[in-house]
Amino acid sequence: MRTLGLIGGMSWESSAHYYRLINQGVRARKGGAHSAPLLMLSVDFKEIAALQHAGDWPTLGKRMAAAARTLVDAGAEAIVLCTNTMHQVADAIEAAQPQPLLHIADATGAAIAEAGHRRVGLLGTAFTMEQPFYRARLTERFGLEVLTPGIEERAEVHRIIYEELVRGIVSDNSRARYTAIIAGLVANGATAVILGCTEIMLLIAQSDSPVPLFDTTALHATMAVDFAIG
Ligand code: GLU
Repeated sequence: MRTLGLIGGMSWESSAHYYRLINQGVRARKGGAHSAPLLMLSVDFKEIAALQHAGDWPTLGKRMAAAARTLVDAGAEAIVLCTNTMHQVADAIEAAQPQPLLHIADATGAAIAEAGHRRVGLLGTAFTMEQPFYRARLTERFGLEVLTPGIEERAEVHRIIYEELVRGIVSDNSRARYTAIIAGLVANGATAVILGCTEIMLLIAQSDSPVPLFDTTALHATMAVDFAIG
């Protein structure tokens, strides 16, 4: 198998799921006592979140590039960046080292296109919902029309991620808010909804939505398993 290099800690709440999902995926496919050869470099998310909210993407790009180089020097054969938001600096990671970056939006877009959806809702951080790096990739590579909630709802989705989910807080109130926001996306024509932040699956399950949900954590982990097994 090929060795994966995970950049985690954004947040560790979801990185822990990546570790479990990737190992479960390898065991399901190869059987027996098989597990995934992988390295994880995990960061302090408080520093990362501060740089994000200051809009300092150049510094974040340098930090992620350095993390990727460290993993590759240690033997990683692909980089798995365990967050949607930080794919904002995917180019910096790709330019800094020779191994492929397994892009989370490609894992997501391919699954949605294969399922036959064209108009999808997107929930994630404000950065993911509002900046072009993620939505444009889904549109250009997979032909998807991407809907996002209104401005106040986007702020609420973002607040719940940073004040609750990355801190391991899962509340019924927030689940009700997300469920209502998903219903609004469906009312606007979305036939599926992307859980475009790797912690949302801690809060929301398929039973909270009238349309199919695409969980980026699980889809990205599957992409990583495919690469490892080759
Ligand atoms: N894990 C989240 C994501 O998938 C948010 C945390 C971050 O900003 O990296 O976007």
